[in-house]
Amino acid sequence: MDIAILGVGYVGLVTGACLAKLGNQVVCADVNKDKITSLNKAVIPIYEPGLDELVKTEMRKGNLSFSDAMSRVIENSDLIFICVGTPSDDNGAADLTYIKDAAREIAMSINRYKLVINKSTVPVGSTMLVEHTIKENMSVVHEFDVISNPEFLREGSAIDDFLNPDRIVVGTTSQKAISLLTELYRPITAPLIITDPASAEMIKYASNTFLATKVSFINAIANVCEAVGADVKEVALGMGYDKRIGFEFLRAGPGFGGSCFPKDSKALIRIAEDNGYDFRLLKGVLEVNEAQQELMVLKVKKKLGELSGKTIGAFGLSFKPNTDDVRNSPALAIIRKLLDEGALVKAFDPVAMDNAKMSLPQLNTVTDAYEVANKSDALLILTEWDEFKWLDFSKIKNLLNNPVIIDTRNCLDPKTLRQLGFDYEGVGR
Ligand code: NAD
Repeated sequence: MDIAILGVGYVGLVTGACLAKLGNQVVCADVNKDKITSLNKAVIPIYEPGLDELVKTEMRKGNLSFSDAMSRVIENSDLIFICVGTPSDDNGAADLTYIKDAAREIAMSINRYKLVINKSTVPVGSTMLVEHTIKENMSVVHEFDVISNPEFLREGSAIDDFLNPDRIVVGTTSQKAISLLTELYRPITAPLIITDPASAEMIKYASNTFLATKVSFINAIANVCEAVGADVKEVALGMGYDKRIGFEFLRAGPGFGGSCFPKDSKALIRIAEDNGYDFRLLKGVLEVNEAQQELMVLKVKKKLGELSGKTIGAFGLSFKPNTDDVRNSPALAIIRKLLDEGALVKAFDPVAMDNAKMSLPQLNTVTDAYEVANKSDALLILTEWDEFKWLDFSKIKNLLNNPVIIDTRNCLDPKTLRQLGFDYEGVGR
């Protein structure tokens, strides 16, 4: 099939590359011309494991290309995926500016039947909004369908998630759209859930906010564990064996972040409020999440006292390992608070330092993990990159001013570190 992707971010680029791998002709377009220029030179603007290789392979095979000629891309396509951002507005609602822009671009260039597939995370009613926007702005009338097809990929394992999803959700009442989508996703083995657009849109918010709730729940349990002398890792293990609960998203830490959970939680609170329901549970989830970041700073203060003039080494900046995405990263939120208290922070991340410096220009980054430790008063683990687990901690102990480690991700072994002479503090243990 001839496919257009509008928006070449974390979702759009992975979607485009994977659909090309499945044998489609894919052209990706973006309003950011610099992105398109670098992609045309096969320079991939984001870090996602396996993506660089996949994009280059599909470009070489002639299945995947990039263009800023939006109208030509739309004209030549049968299927158009909208993968633009839907950030929070000032009131926490999803800002649909980019969605409406994309719909207008489609309207201006529609020249035959198009299936418009919305992969962006959008409030209930947005499928209709896109449909109305296209209708209103179309100069010559052509047939089209707009459907909801929310994306569930996780940064860090996005390619595998796209090609081997737990389910594919399609929200539409159009038989023609269902046939096209069934054909498109035929090579992927996964349950296909065909439902109405409103339910499809809600499935995405309900899924993300349920996972966010699990994270805040285990963080709250971790705080009780600390108070009563239990170990949250043992507790989560014991809970996880219960099939009704499962192991996923039961890792206590500094709270959730990233480009989805915080914004989607805020958006669902707003959707509920606009429709007369006070989603107190979800408000609590966000409250626990914010307090958790503050708690990590308190842990540092407990060890070092007054933070002014103290040097703190930070391992990790991205919101989770295997991505360079720092949007709403708990690591950056904690570092910001430490800087506000007058601390000096030295940080290292395997791939996210450039992005981190863009959002926190005063951040001091160094070239490797040992340099972070060198003459620091404490070490803070903020993102659980695998490579941090295999460092020479005897060497790190000798480099630090004080042998203090605050492991906000519970990713190191307390027993080994204590045997090495560290003053180790995790979360909920
Ligand atoms: P992103 O910010 O990485 O990328 C969005 C891209 O859209 C940008 O490159 C931007 O320049 C482009 N864009 C904006 N307006 C445009 C227009 N009118 N025409 C063409 N391009 C345009 O965003 P993302 O992280 O890929 O997320 C996209 C959507 O997918 C969001 O709604 C998000 O909630 C959802 N989502 C994200 C993830 C994730 O892990 N990042 C997972 C599932 C769903």
